[in-house]
Amino acid sequence: MTDSETNASAHDEDLAEFKTSALYVVGTPIGHLGELSARAIAALRAADLIACEDTRGTARLARHLSLRAPLVAVHEHNERSGADRLIAALGEGKRVALVSDAGTPAVSDPGAKVVRAVQDAGFRVIPVSGPSAAVVALSASGLLDAQFRFVGFLPPKSAARRRVLEGLCEQDCALVFYEAPHRIVECVDDIVAVMQPQRELVVARELTKLFEQIVRLPLADAPAWLQADANHQRGEFVLLLSAPPQAEGLDAATLRTLGLLLDELPPSRAVKLAQAITGAPRKLLYAHAMTLGVDAPADDDSLG
Ligand code: SAM
Repeated sequence: MTDSETNASAHDEDLAEFKTSALYVVGTPIGHLGELSARAIAALRAADLIACEDTRGTARLARHLSLRAPLVAVHEHNERSGADRLIAALGEGKRVALVSDAGTPAVSDPGAKVVRAVQDAGFRVIPVSGPSAAVVALSASGLLDAQFRFVGFLPPKSAARRRVLEGLCEQDCALVFYEAPHRIVECVDDIVAVMQPQRELVVARELTKLFEQIVRLPLADAPAWLQADANHQRGEFVLLLSAPPQAEGLDAATLRTLGLLLDELPPSRAVKLAQAITGAPRKLLYAHAMTLGVDAPADDDSLG
């Protein structure tokens, strides 16, 4: 068989595997091109039309894979009208692929509205899984928390960002954020200002790329680490924050209340108020206050 006959028969196999009138949501690499799966390549080769965020970015992938399908831009500003165009193609029996610039479409990327519109129009949506930076970072983070919450990008302005962080700080799970290099320093500063100091921060940058770096630090040390080397502030970032500390018998909300009161008041007063607000046992509150380096007053027998 000649090379072109081999390619033609591989293309026929791809066409047989992928149904017509279906939208394929295809995950693409977040860095290393070797992480493009064989099934993703087959889906892209079978597609009659490829919807992408930015045609220039996806054109590089298309050249790399010798794709022939036309690329159509569907981004956050035209997602609804773009979806109509894709639905029309599906109505003509086409196979349509949807990709984003990198990673998994619809995860902090356009795609969710297209998927919903296509489903609502009665067509099948088929995922072709690939990497997502959040999960890639989690897998190599060294965090032990059983649960995580994916937050994605925080608001760009500090006041709004701190408000969102305050709403998250009592969640009993690890938190996963995306951040751009030009905001990484101020974002980490706000996390340090709002979150419990006993938490760990994992900075995962340039995942699967040449300058990949994954470091796990006590939260309070993170700003100094970012300042230690200009390269530490370059590239693409996932930030992961370990779950809030657990003290026996005290939940995260109680610990936060106690921590805030201890910042402002003498320990005996802080514990008394924390008990009144949360209903937690005074003895446990004192015991936890002491683990934070706070001394019980000499005449206090609450710990007895
Ligand atoms: N949909 C993509 C996904 O599932 O991974 C995420 C798209 S979002 C617009 C882009 C953000 O993902 C970046 O700003 C960064 O926070 C994170 N990211 C993407 N690639 C990364 C990489 N190689 N290393 C670290 N973070 C990355």
